[in-house]
Amino acid sequence: MIERTFVAIKPDGVQRSLVGEILGRFEKAGLKIVGMKMQWSDKEFALKHYTDDIEKRRGKKVRELLIDYLSEGPVVAVVLEGVHAIEIVRKIVGATEPKSALPGTIRGDFCHVSYDYADKEELAIRNVIHASGNREDAEYEIRLWFKDLELHSYKNAHDLHIFK
Ligand code: GDP
Ligand code: MG
Repeated sequence: MIERTFVAIKPDGVQRSLVGEILGRFEKAGLKIVGMKMQWSDKEFALKHYTDDIEKRRGKKVRELLIDYLSEGPVVAVVLEGVHAIEIVRKIVGATEPKSALPGTIRGDFCHVSYDYADKEELAIRNVIHASGNREDAEYEIRLWFKDLELHSYKNAHDLHIFK
């Protein structure tokens, strides 16, 4: 049940100085940071992150916009560990569309635009953060962004309350 998941604070989140605020929410929930770095990706790398799957789910145009968005500036890439981490992190992050994301979630608190608006303006939805959607994506994304040596197992204060 202890899982690892991947999050990236997207270029808008970094440019808006939200890194500390966002990471603080995960830390306060008891999730453990086991890997972290800043990376300015090129389009080739962004294509590996937003694979054909996104094209199937969201269309070619959205994938193109996303590649530009992800590579327009540095992101803060993080691997988080915890009980049901994949699902818990998605809950803390909130819905994909900021308009629908509930207050109290990262996307609900820090952005507001709708699919309709973004599509009309031909913008990728700028929703400040990416989080792996499921176990398969988490494994793929962690491997894509991090080398084994960049991931660390260590004890923190929360372990006291999680393990016997
Ligand atoms: P996520 O897992 O919640 O990030 O959502 P997806 O994996 O479905 O989509 C990846 C990213 O594409 C989202 O976070 C948005 O930045 C963007 N996106 C998704 N759907 C749309 C859409 O319909 N229109 C636009 N403009 N951007 C979208
Ligand atoms: Mg996704």
